[in-house]
Amino acid sequence: MLNQKNLAYLENLMTDQTLIAVTKYVGDKEINELVNAGIKDLGENRVKKFLDKYEKHQDKAINWHFIGHLQSKKVKKMINKITLLHSLDRMSLADEIEKRREKPLPCFLEVNIANDPNKYGLKPENALDFYNKIKEYDKIKVIGLMGMAKHTDDKEIIRENFNVLLKLREEFNREYNDNKVTKLSMGMSNDFEVAIEMGATHLRIGSFLFEEE
Ligand SMILES: *Cc1c(COP(=O)(O)O)cnc(C)c1O
Repeated sequence: MLNQKNLAYLENLMTDQTLIAVTKYVGDKEINELVNAGIKDLGENRVKKFLDKYEKHQDKAINWHFIGHLQSKKVKKMINKITLLHSLDRMSLADEIEKRREKPLPCFLEVNIANDPNKYGLKPENALDFYNKIKEYDKIKVIGLMGMAKHTDDKEIIRENFNVLLKLREEFNREYNDNKVTKLSMGMSNDFEVAIEMGATHLRIGSFLFEEE
């Protein structure tokens, strides 16, 4: 069930971030509780689970965020049902979205800020070049950068990781100066305090929001 106390703690800490409640571990009951608590932005990382939940909760005004790795072959069946994509990380995916999406989709470029070979995301040094190739796409509107810090209790490492995203945003702004790539999707249950401190605009929080019955 929804942990009301943790939600209150988080909302109290937030300045003007958008809270995306990640529902991948929970079911319909928690979605109802979130909506009743005024949370309209929900996140999922698997296409099948997203589609199930989307269908069941169509009667509600939910903004669905897709936050996980997205296979190109699955784009068609889900891309017109989401509000925002946090995991744009390659040309083949951009091309498929350009083909399938009906109206412009706000997207974050996912960057592998922890420099972890097992994680998805653009290498920081390739992000500008990637953006250059897709910035004229009609159906893709890049609004910012997304990253996941290493899962650790060491706040210095978390800061270093998030700082890669901040530095990269500076580079984007120096290069383009068009005020388009401005948002930062960073901060999960383990590190939202640091993320808020460092200027995150979108938080993606799952486990911290829920508790066992
Ligand atoms: C699961 C997930 C989250 C939320 O994780 P928690 O640690 O449970 O808060 C955030 N972002 C992505 C991409 C995820 O897959």
